[in-house]
Amino acid sequence: GATIGVLGGGQLGRMMALAGSNLGYRFIALDPTPAAPCGQVAEQIVAAYSDKEAAKLLAERSDVITYEFENVDAEVAALLEEQSYVPQGSRLLYTTQHRLREKKAVEAAGVRVAPYAEIGSEDELRAAIARLGLPSVLKTATGGYDGKGQWVIRSEEEIALAYKELSKAGTELILEQFISFEKELSVIAARSPRGEIKTFPVAENIHVDNILHASIIPARVAESIQRDAERLAARIAESMGAVGLLAVEMFLTKDGELFVNELAPRPHNSGHYTMEACNTSQFEQHVRAICNLPLGDPSLRTPVVMVNILGEHIDKVVQAMTTDQWHRDLSNSEDQDGQEQPDEQLASGSQPGFAVIPKVHLYGKSGSVPKRKMGHINLLCEEVSDGLDWIKKTKIWRNQHS
Ligand code: ATP
Ligand code: MG
Ligand code: MG
Repeated sequence: GATIGVLGGGQLGRMMALAGSNLGYRFIALDPTPAAPCGQVAEQIVAAYSDKEAAKLLAERSDVITYEFENVDAEVAALLEEQSYVPQGSRLLYTTQHRLREKKAVEAAGVRVAPYAEIGSEDELRAAIARLGLPSVLKTATGGYDGKGQWVIRSEEEIALAYKELSKAGTELILEQFISFEKELSVIAARSPRGEIKTFPVAENIHVDNILHASIIPARVAESIQRDAERLAARIAESMGAVGLLAVEMFLTKDGELFVNELAPRPHNSGHYTMEACNTSQFEQHVRAICNLPLGDPSLRTPVVMVNILGEHIDKVVQAMTTDQWHRDLSNSEDQDGQEQPDEQLASGSQPGFAVIPKVHLYGKSGSVPKRKMGHINLLCEEVSDGLDWIKKTKIWRNQHS
């Protein structure tokens, strides 16, 4: 089979390689960390992302090249496009690397974003705040993730400090009106070079400290909103001529309006639920799309709640997983005669109470740095409230309410 080269060797590359291997593809990742998550399940070139010789080697070894993060060096992206086949192209990267260009692309697709302004000086920031009001969110145009590189300005007094702090990054800044949203939603669209588009079911996302904590599917919103959200994502993918996956993060207001927050041209954390809960996972879909295969069916098989395992959770998760603690804790109250209930029975609803099947995914990262994404669990359930209760009852995700 063909070899797919992946720029980046993190968990997204790893899960892509695991899914793509089943379709007969080989994978080779470029990542500076030895035995990166992807390198553990595929071949790896250990080198900096900006290393041109390494990029050339990746191009030589690969029939198709993709990436698992959007901050790919522009020169490297151009070099790879020249030396190999990059079906996603460098334009999609160029657009989504910069919040201003990204917002313009969303607007060009006829989709709404929060009112915003480009900020070049503190005076411009003051003028923009006069127009957009407080609170407003000041963001670096490039490089931000997990809420890094942004500042919610709530009072006039914060303006100077916020400007000073974010200017340090040396990138352009952008100010966005604060949307007091009811829910955060996301949709992952897939588009292939032949122009086929499919969207995954909309996820309802719960963030804690700006990091995704849980995704709930089906999202607890009206079906008409689910349809709107999916249509909007497809429209953006179509308008941008995207290839591969395009994740669309959005805000839903209490008036039922949707605003796009940001895009990601790759598999997305809020799409991890698809691994067991959909007929095709986002990772398989990405491989299908970049290889111009017919896209798979993204339909949902079962309600699901995805919960992230961060550095501060991993030890307890491993402990519970290896001792089957969950099974005992969570089935005890319903289990009158003390006998173990097979998962099938719990899931089929033939037993009262808990009906949750936890599917654990660990990324093979060593060391448990707080806030670092170490894995996730897909909680397959009869109803999403069962999955949310499960999270509470484990007591691993303390103080994190969904
Ligand atoms: P990611 O890790 O998803 O890439 P990021 O650092 O790129 O995150 P954003 O997605 O832009 O940052 O913002 C992080 C979170 O901050 C959002 O999920 C949302 O909760 C909040 N937020 C961002 N912009 C706004 C806004 N204009 N109004 C209200 N809340 C916002
Ligand atoms: Mg982002
Ligand atoms: Mg985001």
